[in-house]
Amino acid sequence: MEKLSVLKTQSDYLSKYRFFPFSEYLKEKFPFKVHKIALHAGFTCPNRDGRVGVGGCTYCANESFSPNVKEPYLSIKEQIQKGKSFQKQRYGAEKFIAYFQSFTNTYADVNTLKVYYEEALADQDVIGLSIGTRPDCINEETLNLINTYTEKYHVWIEYGLQSIHDETLKRVNRGHEYKSFVDAINLTKKTCINICVHVILGLPLETCDDMMKTADAVAEMGIQGIKLHHLYVAKNTTLAEEYFRGNVKTLDVHEYVQLVADFLERIPPDVTVQRLVGDTHGNFLISPVWKASKAGITAMITQELEKRGTCQGAHYTVSALTNNSSQKSDLNKSRFHTMEF
Ligand code: SF4
Repeated sequence: MEKLSVLKTQSDYLSKYRFFPFSEYLKEKFPFKVHKIALHAGFTCPNRDGRVGVGGCTYCANESFSPNVKEPYLSIKEQIQKGKSFQKQRYGAEKFIAYFQSFTNTYADVNTLKVYYEEALADQDVIGLSIGTRPDCINEETLNLINTYTEKYHVWIEYGLQSIHDETLKRVNRGHEYKSFVDAINLTKKTCINICVHVILGLPLETCDDMMKTADAVAEMGIQGIKLHHLYVAKNTTLAEEYFRGNVKTLDVHEYVQLVADFLERIPPDVTVQRLVGDTHGNFLISPVWKASKAGITAMITQELEKRGTCQGAHYTVSALTNNSSQKSDLNKSRFHTMEF
């Protein structure tokens, strides 16, 4: 697909928002309004079904961030139809990225995956795929399948990393180590698939320094998207038990805004920012309860960066690793590292 011509417009985004919103990237890239449709394909997760672990990550209440999990099962085609009509009506969306969001969306044999992905792509208004998964749940065969879609579609894979620190990953029962993530990234960089990475800020026992080490490591990897979440405690999770025992604290909104600003300053300015606040649905939330809306928190992050006189990438320096990246994705072709505004 055609690459983004960006130098001026990215500069405009950084001037306006102080970071590079994915929504602006989509507006620039496509001549029509593109939204994501979140899908639940019925996959489970190897960290819940016993293959890697049981119980899942201590914070995992997939129902709380994937609302369609708790709804009666609809086929992918039906979910696309429903999502399209909602997004068209509510946001005037015209085309769609099918977002395989719930649980681990590469956790099946390649023939099964093909059926699900192609059911989504069969809709004439679907112009892309975004596939959320764990880094230990990917292999060359699956990546080769996903890579075949990059010729005609806008394709992303979203890896849950959360932290680069093995001690933290163990503490939250992620069921994989940092090395799995590095291996997955290296394998994916041989393809044309865009990579988005999920990180959680405020994980138990992590210091600001630990989180910034995660930012620096992610910045080096030649990725194209980042999603930041705050740690929240949801009902019916192991984390909730720890929280009520007094062993876990959550961030207040001002601490979180500071951490996000620090994090973004370390991330290259051409990495699209796809999320800045975790998402949970009403009744599930125990802590933190913030009064500000998601839009309000995003505005606070912009204001904080303005106050500092910095922006995304202000403290990022190009490394040899990034320059030598073999990634062929359409975003990476447009990578640049200096910014003036
Ligand atoms: S990897 Fe995702 S779905 Fe699996 S246990 Fe962790 S948070 Fe839940």
